[in-house]
Formats: sequence, C-alpha cells, structure tokens
Amino acid sequence: MKLNDIKTPAYVCEEAKLKSNLELLSYVAERSGANVLCALKGFAFSLGMPMVASALHGATCSGLHEAKYAKEHGFKSVHTYCPAFSNDDIDEVLTLSDHVVFNSFNQWDKFKQKAINSGKSIGLRVNPQFSQSPTDMYNPCAKYSRLGITRANFDASNLDGIDGLHFHALCEESAYSLELVLAEFEAKFGEFIPKMKWVNFGGGHHITKAGYDVELLINLIKNFRAKYGVEVFIEPGEAVGWECGFLVCSVLDIVDNEEKTCIIDASAECHMPDTILMPYRPAMRGESKNGKFTYRFGGATCLAGDIVGNEAGEPFYKFNHEIKIGDRVIFEDQIHYTIVKNTTFNGVKLPNLAMMKENGEITQLKEFGYEEFRRRN
Ligand SMILES: *Cc1c(COP(=O)(O)O)cnc(C)c1O
Repeated sequence: MKLNDIKTPAYVCEEAKLKSNLELLSYVAERSGANVLCALKGFAFSLGMPMVASALHGATCSGLHEAKYAKEHGFKSVHTYCPAFSNDDIDEVLTLSDHVVFNSFNQWDKFKQKAINSGKSIGLRVNPQFSQSPTDMYNPCAKYSRLGITRANFDASNLDGIDGLHFHALCEESAYSLELVLAEFEAKFGEFIPKMKWVNFGGGHHITKAGYDVELLINLIKNFRAKYGVEVFIEPGEAVGWECGFLVCSVLDIVDNEEKTCIIDASAECHMPDTILMPYRPAMRGESKNGKFTYRFGGATCLAGDIVGNEAGEPFYKFNHEIKIGDRVIFEDQIHYTIVKNTTFNGVKLPNLAMMKENGEITQLKEFGYEEFRRRN
C-alpha cells in the first residue's frame, strides 16, 4: 500500500526518520553514560513503540495508564512521576514501575510505607525555580508552579528511603539552557545529591533538532556523573518524535470570504492542538514563501478559531500552484504531542495511524471510526 492509498486524515510516521532520532539518542546514552527514557506523554505512537522500546533504556510515564502502556509495549524499565497519585492507582503504579517519583512531601508521607515495602526506587521531584521555557503554559518553574518541591519546602530530615532527585524545567531547549538549569539545581539541592543514587534531568532537551549542541549535553552529563557518582537519567519526549512524520489531510471544500479557506478533514483544535496552545504555525509540504496562491486551512468543526496557525498570527499559506477540492495536503512534524492529545470534539474522526518506509510503502495501519467517539461520550 502506498501513501496515496490510505484514507485521510492520517498521521504518518516515517520509519527512517524515527530510527535516526533513536540512533542519535542512543549515541548520547553511550557517550555520556546517561540512561535515556522516552516520555510517553509526548510520543506514544503504538506502531513505533517496538523500535523505541528496543533502542532506549525505558519509558517515562505520567501515571498508571502510561505505566501500563510502557509494560505492554516491552519497555525495559518504567519510570513514573505524577503531580499527585491517587489511592486507587498507587499500588499498581508501584508494581509496574522501577522508579516512582513523588511531587511533594505530602505524597511521600502518604505512600511511604507502600513505597518502601514495594522495594522500588523512589525519588522526589524538585523545582529549581529557574527556567528559560518560551511560554508559561510550558514552564514548570513559573510563579506558583505546582510541579516539584521548592528549596524552601524541601525537608532535609525526611529523605530516608529516597534514592533520587528529579527536575524538569526545559521545553524545546538547548544544552546551554540545561547548563543554566543545572547550575541552579546544584546551587539549591547540591548538598543532597551525595545521598542519592540517581538524578533525573527531566525532558525538554531538543536533542534531535538541527543545531542542538549534542557534545555539550554529553559533557554536562559526564561531568555531573563524575562529580557526584550518581546515575543520570534524561527523559525526552518531543526529541524522540521530532520531525519524524506528518498529518495528511484532504481538502473537502474551499470557501472564499475575501481570502480563500480550505476546509480539511482534520482539525487544528482536535489534531494539532499545540498550534493553538503554544501557539505555533506548522510547515506545510510544498508551500512557497513567494507563491501566488494564498490559503488558510480550517477544520470541519464549528469552532471559528479552528484555523491552522491562527493563534500564532500566521494563518496564511502560499503556494506556487492552485489548491483544488479533493487535493491532499500535508502538515509537517505532527507526530509528537498530537496523537496523545487528540479529541473527538464535534464528533470528528480520529486520524488513522500509519508507519511508512523510506520508499513510501505503508507497512502498518491502524484505523479509527465511530466507535472511539461513542465509547468516550
Ligand atoms: C513533559 C515532560 C517530559 C518530556 O518533555 P519533552 O519536552 O517532550 O521532552 C519529561 N519529563 C516530565 C516530568 C515531563 O513533564
């Protein structure tokens, strides 16, 4: 089956690109001595999971369901952090996980006995209160943040049974950003590191983006390990799925109200949510800065603002060719933080999932229909 044979909308993961991301992450692990985990929150694309699970050290999970998913997909180790675990979930989380990270001393006190009895390695998430995150929506160290324990709240007398410290303060950031965060983390929490077996540097490392300083990351990790003698973990999500696939849609109609808007069978709101939340404007295949044909692209939903790139203030796409009803169009880099955030708002269909070889052959396909909407509503 070829790309043009599959029904739209569909997320298509390009196997060779995912493989090359995983190779770079494995290189970082090998050279730095860090354990690299995949944050399932950003990338839980089932058709790619066998590759990810075999290439990386394990999975980072945000709670019970991701921990189950990690086990089911054969990850070698499971690391679970949640802003607050519930009584209902904690036993199973402890059973499934190798590392469990608590977000507060309340949670640690509440589940201490269970955690110790489980024999699992337990950590605490701290808030270094420093971040260069581009937007407060994605800044775990923003004012009043609920994520992680601040130094003022850190109870040095309550660390018996704690093996590790965890921080997560980056979002699509450079190795230099990590260097700055690390300095703050060490200044605030450095005195406790010698008591620990491991430190988890969280996610947000944009390792697979062109221009990322991989050697600086490797050196930071190596120096940290040498200085403290602890194991180091990093848990990128976005970097695993970065630029390794696209969302292909069909143009259902084109309306002309001073500007032309293509109505597509996918939705910014439901299928590319970060274009609205971050916000940002995804690239489109075949677009051309100086093209003569200008269009906006909007979903077949009732939401007026369901226009790709609208919130970023750049909703217009230019092409050198005319777009016609029935054409297929492609939004680039739509594999991470999309599938995991899909909704069926307006009853829209969830895009199918496909894995594609370099020669354009579709090797695996997962299709969705009415059942998903019905079961969830
Ligand atoms: C979101 C998150 C990650 C992954 O972040 P990316 O930006 O996708 O690399 C890792 N760890 C924690 C605790 C997170 O919240």
